[in-house]
Amino acid sequence: MTDLHRLSVRELTEGLAQAKFSSRELTEHYLKRIEKVDAQVKSYVTVTAKQALAQADAADELRRAGTAGVLTGVPIAHKDIFCTQGIRTSAGSKMLDNFISPYDATVVAKGKAAGLVTLGKVNMDEFAMGSTSESSYYGATKNPWALDHVPGGSSGGSAAVVAADLAPFATGTDTGGSIRQPASFCGLTGLKPTYGRVSRYGMIAYASSLDQGGPMARSAEDCAYLMNVMAGHDAKDSTSVEKDVDDYVANLNGTSVKGLRIGIPKQYFNVAGLAADVKARVEESLKKLEEMGAILVEIDLNMTEAYVPTYYLIAPAEASSNLSRYDGVRYGYRCEDPKDIMDLYKRSRSEGFGPEVQRRILIGTYALSAGYYDAYYVKAQKVRRLIQQDFLKAFESVDVIAAPAAPTTAYKIGANLSPVEMYLGDIYTIAVNLAGLPAISAPVGFDQDNLPVGLQLIGNYWSESQLLSVVHQYQQATDWHTKRAAIAEENA
Ligand code: GLN
Repeated sequence: MTDLHRLSVRELTEGLAQAKFSSRELTEHYLKRIEKVDAQVKSYVTVTAKQALAQADAADELRRAGTAGVLTGVPIAHKDIFCTQGIRTSAGSKMLDNFISPYDATVVAKGKAAGLVTLGKVNMDEFAMGSTSESSYYGATKNPWALDHVPGGSSGGSAAVVAADLAPFATGTDTGGSIRQPASFCGLTGLKPTYGRVSRYGMIAYASSLDQGGPMARSAEDCAYLMNVMAGHDAKDSTSVEKDVDDYVANLNGTSVKGLRIGIPKQYFNVAGLAADVKARVEESLKKLEEMGAILVEIDLNMTEAYVPTYYLIAPAEASSNLSRYDGVRYGYRCEDPKDIMDLYKRSRSEGFGPEVQRRILIGTYALSAGYYDAYYVKAQKVRRLIQQDFLKAFESVDVIAAPAAPTTAYKIGANLSPVEMYLGDIYTIAVNLAGLPAISAPVGFDQDNLPVGLQLIGNYWSESQLLSVVHQYQQATDWHTKRAAIAEENA
């Protein structure tokens, strides 16, 4: 079969179950495509071909024995932030270029237990700080829709592999939009779960009170398959919640769009940087949902102006603390010929971290330092609570809240936005992390340059099933999620 990469995750599970193809054939097919196409996209940091083929053979063995699970033998790509035993886990940083993880992240272990075949580790902004994937030590990943554009970030590699048909789905992480924004830039569906739904164990920390892993795929249905693997309590992550996990696939038709109350925040559609095409596509998608029976309700989210300053104090503060472990002593990059211990620390960190990561460490250290702590960090924590309350009030009158996933479509590579311009691009995603809520991004059309636009739906706590279900109904009634980038078409 020459078109295995066109199949959805459900079709892959059916094909494997009916022995229409083996996991080895499927895996070899993807590995060949990676070899052929990834020189242009540059999405993989590490391809684990040998291990993938061994996992595929083991999966085929389980199929023959009749002991396979639903997903046994389906390939996946992992963001290079999830620790993988025996395989380099770089977090896109020179600091960890030589780091071979001695253990698997819980998400990776769960994937293995479900029989998923790891094709490799994919590119990302350094330590997940960024919105373009350009800050990676391994260079920029290209947007499959337009190779001179970024795929978004920080999970840019995860988005690019799926959009270029170099993996059927991928894991991502979202601290302030890193699943939803690249999904939006690459025409994909991406789910950021409720904080605590997916284990953070073995996921390299950026800002621990905001970080959350989740699925990125072509459709809500494909995301649901991966959520079934990723979600669940983990004793190794103290913030993971002991709460029953839904069967996200079985619940795909569980929520009716008819009568669903969708909140439209007034403030969100008056943001200065909101591109006209993005606004138009998002409004058209809401019209479509209205035709399907949803009720659109205008709401207020009065804290909107506080999102960017609040996030850009809390996230760097936590980052500066988390990244203090990279000292050149225990693991990771160490400078040559240190004079003394201070020189070792200073040069290892100056040489090992890129400029954006250093900027965040400086901002965070400043916000946490004596004399500024109350004025910045403590104040930001108080505002964070107000932002959460703003959402909770809104959820008293609506079921979900609609927003663009990002104010623009994908930027040009090398556009060289100032840090502040770049941070302002996170306006629609970061409040969700500050509040710990779940949210999904789904493709709803294109701008005049044929770059994808994403609609974001924000749900109340633990409403992942509802969000996946609403997007699934929308995707049954529309075909935006079936559109393929030219590079995926050409190399079919
Ligand atoms: N762009 C945001 C940042 O740079 C979000 C990144 C993320 O979610 N990891 O912090």
